Amino acid sequence: MKKLLLATHNSGKIQEFKALLTPLQIEILSAADYRLIEPAETGTTFEENAAIKALAGMKATGLPSLADDSGICVPSLNNAPGVYTADWAGVPRNWMTAMQRVHDELGASKDRRAYFVSLLALCLPSGEIKYFRGEVWGELIWPVRGEKGFGFDPMFKPDGYDQTFAEMQPALKNQISHRAKALEQFLLWLSQQAAA
Ligand code: IMP
Repeated sequence: MKKLLLATHNSGKIQEFKALLTPLQIEILSAADYRLIEPAETGTTFEENAAIKALAGMKATGLPSLADDSGICVPSLNNAPGVYTADWAGVPRNWMTAMQRVHDELGASKDRRAYFVSLLALCLPSGEIKYFRGEVWGELIWPVRGEKGFGFDPMFKPDGYDQTFAEMQPALKNQISHRAKALEQFLLWLSQQAAA
């Protein structure tokens, strides 16, 4: 694989992907480089939405295309917002509104456990799709803390750390995040392909 399209317009995700994929001898292109139109995420699972984005990217460019569908799941809210995480931010997206909504729905609940999911779909030029999944567990805090990162980062304190994702150095988040874990699976698959 010489070129890889990141089929996303989310600049936070693009920065994280590029940082994580730097060691590879692969040219990384993004949806913005090709002015791709964002497909509607009509799926009801992370897998379906990731596949929709990866397939659209591959069809538009002919390149192997990697898309991530991600979100935050809160078990005490029946795993909401989950696949609808981005929708909870409204239009135009406002992450403070989305975090406030989660906080309000939690109310007095003592169970503030949550996990981020990153579901990567790689669509190969043949149309075949491979999936790689990563999760990171932690706790939802209030008031939110930190200025770095994006989305729900200021509200999420990963297990084993005192800082939220938005307070951490990006390099640390990139070692432990759901996206890092999913990418690890992807890199493992890639090295197996190279060895075959
Ligand atoms: P989608 O994958 O584009 O549907 O968006 C999922 C949403 O989940 C993002 O826009 C973020 O709000 C949230 N999200 C996914 N990954 C992260 C993360 O690493 N930090 C904070 N929020 C995230």
